[in-house]
Amino acid sequence: VDQSKADHRHCSSTPRASLTEISDSLAWFQDMVRHALDYAVEQKGQGRNIVGIMCEFTPRELIMAAGGIPVCMCGGSFDTISAAEAKLPTNLCPLIKSTFGYSERKANPFLEMADLLIAETTCDGKKKMYEILAESRPMHVLELPQKPDDETAFEHWLNELWTLRKNLEARFDTCVTDDGLRAAIRMMNRERSVRRGLAAHMKQACPRLTGRQLLDLKSLISCIPSDLAKYDEVLATLEHAGPDPAGARDVRVLLTGVPLAHGAERVMDIVEGAGGRVVCQESCTGLKPILDDIDASAPDPMRAIAEKYFHLPCSVMTSNHRRIELLSKLVEEFRPQCIIDIVWRACLTYDVEAYRVKRLADSLGLPYLAIETDYSPNDSARIVLRVEALFETLRAAR
Ligand code: SF4
Ligand code: SF4
Repeated sequence: VDQSKADHRHCSSTPRASLTEISDSLAWFQDMVRHALDYAVEQKGQGRNIVGIMCEFTPRELIMAAGGIPVCMCGGSFDTISAAEAKLPTNLCPLIKSTFGYSERKANPFLEMADLLIAETTCDGKKKMYEILAESRPMHVLELPQKPDDETAFEHWLNELWTLRKNLEARFDTCVTDDGLRAAIRMMNRERSVRRGLAAHMKQACPRLTGRQLLDLKSLISCIPSDLAKYDEVLATLEHAGPDPAGARDVRVLLTGVPLAHGAERVMDIVEGAGGRVVCQESCTGLKPILDDIDASAPDPMRAIAEKYFHLPCSVMTSNHRRIELLSKLVEEFRPQCIIDIVWRACLTYDVEAYRVKRLADSLGLPYLAIETDYSPNDSARIVLRVEALFETLRAAR
């Protein structure tokens, strides 16, 4: 029996938790930016430093152990792009342009209150943008070696994290201790664990959450106590929720590719608006950064932190075989009916890697669709048509 058909037969049982109960729990995260801003203002008022991060390779634990508040500064707004294009090329990834545009327009309150930005040498567009950003903002650049299986590359990365640690200590006049690192590791592990639990809900035949709702269950600032309590609440509510009968008709989708920064969820909305249910999000705004925890009791916490982050399967790495392995595992666990791969225009690394993702999809017998786009809504109608055509083919084959 086709597994998806078998699963769908169980989708009509009566929900045990009401929709209102779930919506009430989710409502908190609709206001995520305001909660994060209130927290940042309060913490800064108490003398803590705000540290902007722009990539999942940057270890939040190290910043937290130095008493800083790490805040994600990745731009997801179309409105800030024109401001960026006065200095940056038009033919550049929208995530880079939007992040820079916020700075040009001084429109990101977190950026305006940041005491330090931590950047990293990932893709070429980002690292060249950082050079211009550093002309007006205090910045520390982590040099990320790009051969994750190379022992000397790892030692270099560890060394880079030690340099960052010393910079944080000097700049913030503090001392990072092993105990402080272990406390930060435990906090981040707790958040990663509950967010993994939420993502695992989507393994169900007819999950109660949509992919968009799951995507919204995050914050620009990790480990805010009130957020942690709300994650627990959503998880507890979902544990008592029955299946979503509407989900029986939806096409299960695995979404991979570039991160969907806050404000850049358009393709996700198109996919779900066309009758898809994104049951698995592999990207940096999904599962990728939260899959691995760090052993808080490891004898050398710096090394343990360095290992977790260095092995993030990002397309800037060569070879990035871990992403293909991860995708195979996620297909097995989440049972998608197709793979949709989002590539921001001018993102060469994800664009080239799309070839390998398609090859994997072919080998697994899963239909594959690559969508190259940016933050402009101009191509929405074209994307809707392509997604609908994919879903029609899948429904006809059911
Ligand atoms: S996709 Fe790569 S470069 Fe982008 S945030 Fe993730 S790890 Fe960083
Ligand atoms: S999406 Fe691609 S080009 Fe854009 S910042 Fe990430 S790795 Fe760089």
